[in-house]
Order: sequence, then C-alpha cells, then structure tokens
Amino acid sequence: MKKLLILGAGTAGTMMLNKLHKQLDPAEWHCTIVDKDPVHYYQPGFLFIPFGVYQPEEVQRPKADFFPEGTDVVWAEVEQVLSEENQVLLTDGRTLPYDVLIIATGTEPRPGETPGLQGTLWYKDIFDFYTFEGSTRLAEKLATWDGGRLVINLAESIIKCPVAPLEFAFLADAYFTEKGLRDRVDILYVTPLSGAFTKPKATEVLSNLLAEKGIEVVPDFYLERVDEDTKTLVSYDGQEVPFDLLVSIPVNMGADYVEASDMGDADDLNFIPTDKHTLQARDYDNIFVVGDATNVPTSKAGSVAHFMAEILTENVLHYIHGEPLTASFDGHANCFIETGFGKAALIDFNYDTEPLPGTFPLPFLGPMRLLDESRMNHMGKLLFRWVYWHMLLTGKTLPVLTHMSMTGKKQDEAVPA
Ligand SMILES: Cc1cc2nc3c(=O)[nH]c(=O)nc-3n(C[C@H](O)[C@H](O)[C@H](O)COP(=O)(O)OP(=O)(O)OC[C@H]3O[C@@H](n4cnc5c(N)ncnc54)[C@H](O)[C@@H]3O)c2cc1C
Repeated sequence: MKKLLILGAGTAGTMMLNKLHKQLDPAEWHCTIVDKDPVHYYQPGFLFIPFGVYQPEEVQRPKADFFPEGTDVVWAEVEQVLSEENQVLLTDGRTLPYDVLIIATGTEPRPGETPGLQGTLWYKDIFDFYTFEGSTRLAEKLATWDGGRLVINLAESIIKCPVAPLEFAFLADAYFTEKGLRDRVDILYVTPLSGAFTKPKATEVLSNLLAEKGIEVVPDFYLERVDEDTKTLVSYDGQEVPFDLLVSIPVNMGADYVEASDMGDADDLNFIPTDKHTLQARDYDNIFVVGDATNVPTSKAGSVAHFMAEILTENVLHYIHGEPLTASFDGHANCFIETGFGKAALIDFNYDTEPLPGTFPLPFLGPMRLLDESRMNHMGKLLFRWVYWHMLLTGKTLPVLTHMSMTGKKQDEAVPA
C-alpha cells in the first residue's frame, strides 16, 4: 500500500482528506491524518463569542466526526519532517512514513513573542480573540466592563483572517452603542499597516467606515513591547499608546516543527516555501502545502484554504499519476467583513486583482454587494457556519468558483461613499 500522510486536521487538512479519500483507489492508497488536538474549532465563530452572538458550544465539534471511514487517525504532535527519509517524527518518538505528504498545520497566535503581552495583565486587561480560550475569556470581561480606552492592536501584519481585527472594532462599536455605553468607550485601531487594510480600494472603504463610527486609526505602529506598569503599547520608534483594555492580535506563526525540519529556508514566522500556483513545497516533489501553513502571498483564510484544496486535489492526483501539475491556484480569497448593526461588506480578490466594488456572484443581481455594506452580506456570513460544518469540511462541492471571476466587478467605479 502507498501512504498518503496529512499533517493537521483543521480546515484545510480535513477538506483534503475528504476530497482525496473519494478519489484514491483504496486497494492502492492508505490515508493517515495527524493532529495534536481532537477538537475542531470553527475559528470565524471566535469573532462573535465576545459579543454574545455565538455561545462557545456552537463553535466546536469532535474532529473525528469529519473523517471518512477507513482513515488512520493519529492524535499526536509533529516534532519534525524528515524529508530526506520520507518520514515524520512525532513528539512521542513514533515515526510515520509517507509516499505523499500534505502539510496543513496552519498558524497560531504566539503572544509570548512580544515582551509584556502575556504577563501579569494577560486575561485581566489584555485579551486575544484568535483562540477559543481568549474569545471566551474576553466575553466574560466585556459583559462587566464599564468603559475606558479600548485598544485593538495587530502585533504583526501577516495574520490569519486579516479583516477579523477590523470586524472586531466594528462589532465593539455596535455592542457598546447597544449597551448605552458608547460615549464612555474610546476605540483605537493600532496597526503596523499604513492604513486600515492592505489594498487601496478596500482601505478607502474601510477607513471611511472606521471614521464614521468614531474609531481612531493609529497606522505604522510596529509593536516592540507592552509596558505592564503603565498599561501602554510601545513601538520600536518610541510611539506610545495607553490602554485600559487591550485586544491583541499577537504575532501569528506556523508550527514549531517547521523550524526543526529542513523545509527549505522557511521564514522567521515558520511559513513554508510553497509554489504559489501548484502548492507543491518548493524543495520537495512529494510534499504539498495547503491553508495557512504556506508562504503564498494571499490572505490566510478558510475561503482561501477551500480554493487551494480544490486545486491541490487535482495536483496531488496529477503527481500520483506522473502527470504535470497543471491545476493553478490564482490566490483567490473571498471574505465577509462584519460592520455591525446586522450588516457586512464582502471582498473578493486574488494575486492580481485587488478587492473591487460591484455585485457577487452575479452581475447586477448579486445578491451580495462587493465593498459595500448590506444585510444580505451579514446573512451570508452567518449562514456560512452551517455550510462549513455540513459542506466545506466534508469536501462537498460548493456553488462558488475556485478561480476569481471578474463577473459583477466594476473596475473603474469609485468605491461607495
Ligand atoms: C478570529 C478568526 C476569525 C476568522 N474568520 C474567518 C472568516 O470569516 N473567513 C475565513 O475564510 N477565514 C476566517 N478565519 C481564518 C480561518 O479559520 C483559517 O484561515 C483556517 O482555519 C485555516 O485552515 P488551516 O487548515 O490552514 O489551519 P487550521 O484550521 O488552524 O488547522 C491547523 C491544524 O493543525 C494542527 N497542528 C498544528 N501544529 C501541529 C503539530 N505540530 N502537530 C499536530 N497537529 C498540529 C492544529 O491542531 C489544527 O487542527 C478566521 C480565523 C480566526 C482566528
């Protein structure tokens, strides 16, 4: 039997397992998946937990519920990929051989990378919402917090779901308004980027929305440390931003084993060098990388993991059959942006095309609006949780195009005011 080994049973790894399991000949291929944590978290739900929109039990399910029958499941932590030997070493000392390896170990927040962040104020006045624990602890804090200076800070610019911190700011504005506390809360958005987002048209729309909602943006702020005594963010160039309550998006990094493995000069953040079109590891023909673990220049997002999984399924099958890897990922990303008060915006872009205004997926009819707020977009975001559990993870075909389409997009139109 030949061995397909998948590292990571999150969004991307689970999709790849389900898609390839349907395609591979069971008489020839044996599939194994490895993960250190048996609970699958619906991470987009972490955004809503602090505001009481979702309850903790609504965002978690056993990972094993999503594995096809006949899969060999290994609950263990990966220690190292021994790529020259086609083996993976686990921290418990076991080794797993492979013919084809798919890496899908994602990225996770590392508050310990910034001095003072995970110190005496952690989960007292400093919280994250990128983890299950962080979002549930923040929900408890917000329920009793009676106002002050709320600072939302990105410690690094490369993070998963780059719009989630903005969504948090918009939802915080709505939450405190509805609680009758908004005039006692100053909201600051402190970012290393030069504006609200990376792409010009989206930045213009999102900056307008932040200004409209009275959220102050502090750009070009490269966090060096948190001064716990004065409750102040300090940047490398000496800027200081004091806070009463800090919601931090800590440095996001790939798994530690990447550094210990010979993955071809993975960067300081442990993201793996990957061909941005074929999704083959740059230095190894029989290793493929999918989801947040790659270093490809698009957003780290579940939607991206989904489009990548469609492409990678084709390319893994090509590889197995000795054919050229002809399926090509275009960097397609599609993200709803919650803007508060029951509305959301939507962006759709790829490596070459920035988010543009227009309608999605159909011209004129939509029903979603691009780079503009609507209730329909918000409904789409909430509906996505059902789609995630019932269709996406199980590898079903979704009615969205894998490659970005220009249909409905208006290249020369000014962004909505
Ligand atoms: C607050 C928040 C909001 C978000 N909102 C959206 C959204 O609205 N839309 C969207 O598209 N995306 C969103 N995302 C991003 C999305 O959840 C991720 O991009 C997606 O889950 C990436 O999938 P992945 O498989 O690459 O990584 P993950 O789903 O994180 O899976 C990685 C898996 O690898 C395992 N693992 C890691 N290291 C090891 C190891 N050493 N040994 C064994 N196992 C290991 C982990 O346990 C995990 O199960 C959001 C994320 C967050 C945090």
